[in-house]
Amino acid sequence: MLTGRSESARSSDRARPDVAVVGAGPIGLAIAWRCAARGLRVVVHDPASGSGASAVAAGMLSPVAEAYFGERQLTKLLLASAARWPAFAAELTAATGTGIGYRTEGTLMVGLTGDDLAEARRLWAYQQGLGLPVTPLRPSELRDREPALAPRVRGGALAPTDHQVDPRMLVPALRTAAQRAGAVLVPQAVAHLSDVDASVTVVAAGCGAAALTGLPVRPVKGQILRLRAPDGVAPGFRHVIRGYADGEPVYLVPRADGEVVLGATVEERADTTVTAGAVQRLLRAGVDLLPELAEYDLVEAVAGLRPGTPDNAPILGPLPGRGDVLAATGHHRHGIVLTPITADLITDLVLGGVPDPLLAPFGPERFVGTGSTDPAPAATGGPEPTMEGDRWS
Ligand SMILES: Cc1cc2nc3c(=O)[nH]c(=O)nc-3n(C[C@H](O)[C@H](O)[C@H](O)COP(=O)(O)OP(=O)(O)OC[C@H]3O[C@@H](n4cnc5c(N)ncnc54)[C@H](O)[C@@H]3O)c2cc1C
Repeated sequence: MLTGRSESARSSDRARPDVAVVGAGPIGLAIAWRCAARGLRVVVHDPASGSGASAVAAGMLSPVAEAYFGERQLTKLLLASAARWPAFAAELTAATGTGIGYRTEGTLMVGLTGDDLAEARRLWAYQQGLGLPVTPLRPSELRDREPALAPRVRGGALAPTDHQVDPRMLVPALRTAAQRAGAVLVPQAVAHLSDVDASVTVVAAGCGAAALTGLPVRPVKGQILRLRAPDGVAPGFRHVIRGYADGEPVYLVPRADGEVVLGATVEERADTTVTAGAVQRLLRAGVDLLPELAEYDLVEAVAGLRPGTPDNAPILGPLPGRGDVLAATGHHRHGIVLTPITADLITDLVLGGVPDPLLAPFGPERFVGTGSTDPAPAATGGPEPTMEGDRWS
C-alpha cells in the first residue's frame, strides 16, 4: 500500500496514478472520492458508471430489518455503516449541492396474515435479542403511523433507525464528488488487472469482479418495480414498509417525488429478463399491504444482478499474494448501506493504515482453498441456517 509516501512524493509522480479503481458504481465511486480527498491521484475505470446493481436498487439502509439468523458479523458491519450514513449524506450533499433522497422516517415491518405475523415475530425476537431497536406495534398504533395500510394487516414493528436513500441520486452525486476531489473517470472496461497501471488497484466492479480476480462473486437476480402516485403527489405513506403478504416477502419504498419502489425477487439466475409471474407476485403482495397502490401508474419493471458471495457477505481487503490489489466487492443485497464504511476502511488500507478490526471476517482469504462456491461461514458469524428464500432483498 502507500505507506510512507509523502504528499510531495505523491504529487510529484504525476505520471502514475496512486490508485486505480475498477468499477464506478456506488462502492468504487465512494472509494475514489475518499482517496482523492486524502490527496491521492485516482483514476476510475468504467465503461458505464452506475449501470450495475445500483441502477435498480431500492436504497433501503436496513441493518436492523436485515439482521438475520446466522449473520452476526455482517449485522455488525451493516450497523457500523448505517451509523456513518447521516454524516456521509450531509458531506456528500455539501460537496455536490445536490440531494440524494436520504430520508429518516424509519421502517415499518408488517405481517399480513397470522402466519406472516408469526414468521415476522420470530425474526423480531432475534433482532431484539441482539439489542437492536425493534418496537412491536399494536394494529391501531400501526395504522396511526400509516393509515394507508390495509385493514387486514395483522401487526407490525417499527425499526426507527432503518432509513433510505435514492441510489439513482446517490451515484451521480458520488461521481460529481469524486471528480471534484480530483479523481479522473476513464470510460473503458478493464479486461485484465495487468492492464491497470497504478500503485494500488481497487477492484470494485460488482459482479465483474469474478472475471478479474477469480473471487467467488456470482450474480443474484432481483426483479423490481417502480410505481408512481397519480398526479405527481407524494405517496400516501412515509415509512419504508417491508413485510410478508401471504408468505411473499415484499418491500415498498416511498420517494418524495411520488415514486414507490416495490421489490424484489431473489433468484439464482444471471439474466435480466422481467417475467410476468414475478410482476404479478410483487404487485399482488404490494397491493395486499397497501391497497391504494392499485391506483398508481406502473412505470418500470426491471431486473438487476446483485454481486453475491458464498456467505452473502462482502469481500474486502488485499487479494492473497497480491498486496497491491484490494477487493471491495460482493456486497450482494447491502451495497448501498455498506457504501460509507467500505469507502472509509478501504481508503485506510490504501493509505497503509492498520486494518480496522471490523474488516477481519471479510477478507478474500476466507475463500482460498474452499473452491469457488463453497460456503465459508466466517463472515456471517454463526452456524445457524440462513433464510435466503424468505428474505427481503
Ligand atoms: C433489485 C435490487 C435491490 C437492491 N436493493 C438494495 C437496497 O435496498 N439496499 C442496499 O444496500 N443494496 C441494495 N441492492 C444491492 C446493491 O445495489 C449492490 O450491492 C450495490 O449496487 C453494489 O455496488 P457496487 O458498486 O459494488 O456494484 P454495482 O452497483 O453493480 O456497480 C459495478 C460497476 O462496475 C462496473 N464494471 C463491471 N465490470 C467492470 C470492468 N471489467 N471494468 C470496469 N468497470 C466494470 C459496472 O459497469 C458498474 O458500473 C439491491 C440490488 C438489487 C439488484
